[in-house]
Amino acid sequence: MKKKIIIVGAGISGLSAGVYAVRSGFDAEIIEQHFTFGGFSTSWKRKGYYFEGGMHWLTGSSPKVPLNRVWKETGALQENNPVENRDPFYTLIDGEKKLRFWRDLNRFKTELLEFAPEDKKNIKKLCSDIKAFRHVNMPMRDVKGLKTKHPCKLTISQTLAMLPAGLRYFRLKNTSYLDYIGKFKNETVRHLLLSIVGHRYNALSFIYTMSSIATGDSGFPLGGSIRMAQNMLDTFLSLGGKITYSTKVEKIITEKFIDKNKNEKQKVVAIKTDKGEIKCDSVIVTQDTRVAIDNLFEEKIETDWAPRMRKNVTGSENVFVALGVKADLSHYPYSMVFPLKEKIEFAENEFSELRIYNYAKYSGFAPEGGTPLTCILLAPYYDYWKKAKLDGTYKEKKDALAQKFIEAVSKFIPEVTKESVEVYDVATPLTYERYCSAYQGSWMSIWKPRTSRFHYPQTIKNLEGVYFAGQRIMIPGGLPIAVYTGRRAVQLVCRDNDVEFV
Ligand SMILES: Cc1cc2nc3c(=O)[nH]c(=O)nc-3n(C[C@H](O)[C@H](O)[C@H](O)COP(=O)(O)OP(=O)(O)OC[C@H]3O[C@@H](n4cnc5c(N)ncnc54)[C@H](O)[C@@H]3O)c2cc1C
Repeated sequence: MKKKIIIVGAGISGLSAGVYAVRSGFDAEIIEQHFTFGGFSTSWKRKGYYFEGGMHWLTGSSPKVPLNRVWKETGALQENNPVENRDPFYTLIDGEKKLRFWRDLNRFKTELLEFAPEDKKNIKKLCSDIKAFRHVNMPMRDVKGLKTKHPCKLTISQTLAMLPAGLRYFRLKNTSYLDYIGKFKNETVRHLLLSIVGHRYNALSFIYTMSSIATGDSGFPLGGSIRMAQNMLDTFLSLGGKITYSTKVEKIITEKFIDKNKNEKQKVVAIKTDKGEIKCDSVIVTQDTRVAIDNLFEEKIETDWAPRMRKNVTGSENVFVALGVKADLSHYPYSMVFPLKEKIEFAENEFSELRIYNYAKYSGFAPEGGTPLTCILLAPYYDYWKKAKLDGTYKEKKDALAQKFIEAVSKFIPEVTKESVEVYDVATPLTYERYCSAYQGSWMSIWKPRTSRFHYPQTIKNLEGVYFAGQRIMIPGGLPIAVYTGRRAVQLVCRDNDVEFV
C-alpha cells in the first residue's frame, strides 16, 4: 500500500509538492478550494481580453541557474512555453525622453551616464552592486539525511563566486530601497529605479532583482501563469496524481500517540473538508502558512517559530488594474514606466510613477486590434478595502479607482480613453484573500530594512506528518519560494518515511 499524502492547495507550491510526491512513490491527492488550479499564478479573460495576473518575471527561468532544474523537473517549463527575455526590461517614457533598463549592464550604465552625468558616482556604485550579485542565486539545498540519487550541492567555486556579494550584503540589507534610490539627483533616474520592487523593501531585494535580470534570468515563459501551472498540473496527473476541486480543507485532524522514547506526541490521521473526511498519512499545507497556523488546526499553532511568523509577516498587497483597450498599442514597449509630475492618490496611497505592462504583441491575448494593459499598484491598503466592504462602498470605490487610472494613463497613451476601454477589471487585497485565502490578500512578504532573512521550518515540533510549503516560508516569497518549498516538503516526508526522494 502506498502512503497517502494530502496536499492542501493547487497553487505553484501545491503542484510542485504533488509532482515530487508521486515521483517519489506516494499516493498524492491535491485538495483545492477553488474550481481551478494555479492559485495566485493565474490569468483570466474578460470580453475577449486576456489579463495576465500572476507573473511578470520568473526567477530560475535561465538554464544557467540552479533553480531552473526545479522548474524543469516539475514540468513547469517545457517546449510549449519558451522563455522570452524581454530587453529592455523597463522603458521609462517622459514625453520625448526615454530611459531604459537594459539587461546588458554595460549598456545600461552607458545610457544612465549619458542621461544623468550628475549621478556618475551613484550610477557606478549601483552597477558595481548589481555586478557583485551576479553569481548569487537562490540557495538550493536538500534536507539533511535525505536519500536521493540526484542531490543538490553548492560547490566550492559557487560559494567563492558569491564572496563579492557577501561583503555588500549587510550594507544593502540595512538600507531601505527608498534611501538607496533617494541618493540619485536625477528625478527621471529615480522614477525608473523606483519601479523595480515595492517601496517598503530593503535595498538588497532591489539589487538582487536587478542582478538576476542583468544576468539573463527572470524571463517570461510564453503563455504566462496559466500555461506554466497547466504544465505542472498535466505532469502531476500524468504521473498518477489526483486532484479534487471546489473542496475546502477546514481542519487537520490529529491524534495523540506515544513514541518509542515514551514521549507523548501528535500525528496527523485525516483532514476534514466541507465535503467530508479523508484519511491520510501526511499532509502538506500550501495554504498561506500565516493563515494556516491560526485556522487549520483544532487550536492555534504555538510551536517555536509561530509567534515569530505572526510578528514578522508584512504582506505585499496590491491593487491590480487591467484594461482591455480597443487600440493596437504594439508600437509601445512591453513594460513602461510613466513618471508622474504630481503624485496620484489611489485608495489613500500616493504614487509617483505608473508601471504598465502592455500585452499588444502577444497573440491570442485580445480581440483583433485590441490590447490588454495591466498595472499593479503596490501599497499597504488592506484596511482601506476592508472598511469599504463593510460600509458598502467597495464596488463604487473600485470603479472610481479604475476611472481615475484610465484618466492618468490617457495622459501618457492617448489611445487610452474612456471610450476605447472596452472592459476593465480591478482586483484588491480582498479579491486575493477570497480567492486564495492568503493573509490580507498578500502574495509575498516584504523584506524590510534591518530585518533578517526569515526562513521558517516546514514542520512543527511534536506533530508528525504535517508539513508546510508555499510563498510564506521564506522571505520575500513569490514563485521561486513556492516551487522550492513544495519540493522541500516532499523531501521532509521522504526523510521521515525512509523513502528515496526522486
Ligand atoms: C499580480 C501579481 C503579480 C505577481 N508577479 C510575480 C512575479 O513576477 N514573480 C514572482 O515570483 N511572483 C509573482 N507573484 C507572486 C506569486 O504569484 C505567488 O507568490 C505564488 O503564486 C504563490 O504560490 P503558492 O503556491 O505559495 O500560494 P497560492 O498561490 O496562494 O496557492 C495556495 C492554494 O491553496 C488554495 N487553498 C488555500 N486554502 C485552502 C484550503 N483551506 N483548502 C483548499 N485549498 C486551499 C488556494 O485556493 C490556492 O489555490 C505575483 C502575484 C500577483 C498577484
